[in-house]
Amino acid sequence: MRFKMLLNQVILNRRNTLKTIENEVMGILKSCDAYWLHNGDSSKPHVELTSGLCSNGFINTLKALHELKHARRLADLIVHQIRAEIGEQQVDWVIGSPMAGITLAHDIGHAIGAKKSGFVEKDPSGDKGVFLWNRHTIGPEETVLQIEELITTSQTLMGVKETIERDNEHPINWIGAVGSVVHRPVSLPQQYDERKVIALIEREIWAVEQSKCELCAAGSERYRPKQHWDKLVS
Ligand SMILES: [Zn+2]
Repeated sequence: MRFKMLLNQVILNRRNTLKTIENEVMGILKSCDAYWLHNGDSSKPHVELTSGLCSNGFINTLKALHELKHARRLADLIVHQIRAEIGEQQVDWVIGSPMAGITLAHDIGHAIGAKKSGFVEKDPSGDKGVFLWNRHTIGPEETVLQIEELITTSQTLMGVKETIERDNEHPINWIGAVGSVVHRPVSLPQQYDERKVIALIEREIWAVEQSKCELCAAGSERYRPKQHWDKLVS
């Protein structure tokens, strides 16, 4: 009984910590005009993406990450969450993807006590999501933590992993977690491989053709965030 009470207290403390962290991250993103989510009220406008698709949300982590104090703080918070998941396991490499994931991986490498940070590069002759890993060699005993600044689908996440496994001389010992500032798939929860996504913010965000947009059908106006941010947040 006493053990169960202690366990419940630990779980409660953990939930409170997660809520506190999420509130802080939301504060950072909102202060940079980097976060907006539709609240389900069709009298409120929604987002028109650059692609022309409609969406119920807009998150631009770059607007927060290019401010160094925010980048450092977000890296520290991600490391806090990853350590809660993996304990004291040694992390040798922290690797990100171009472009925004490169500096974030670097900051997280410092914060988590890694020896090295690195990044895959875009294949200049390839399509979107095709990468190269040909400047460094990860040793056979070294562990690797993958970092993304924003995860929407599995494309970049798995593209980076498959590239390093393809190009590195030795098999890769992946840390059992992938760190990210934001995880925003169409539906939650999502499992992409055996690793757990550790994100500071998780939201379900969809993007559809205007002809299939339920908010347009309900009379909600749509605006491009860059040009009409004030209309979205008012
Ligand atoms: Zn729409």
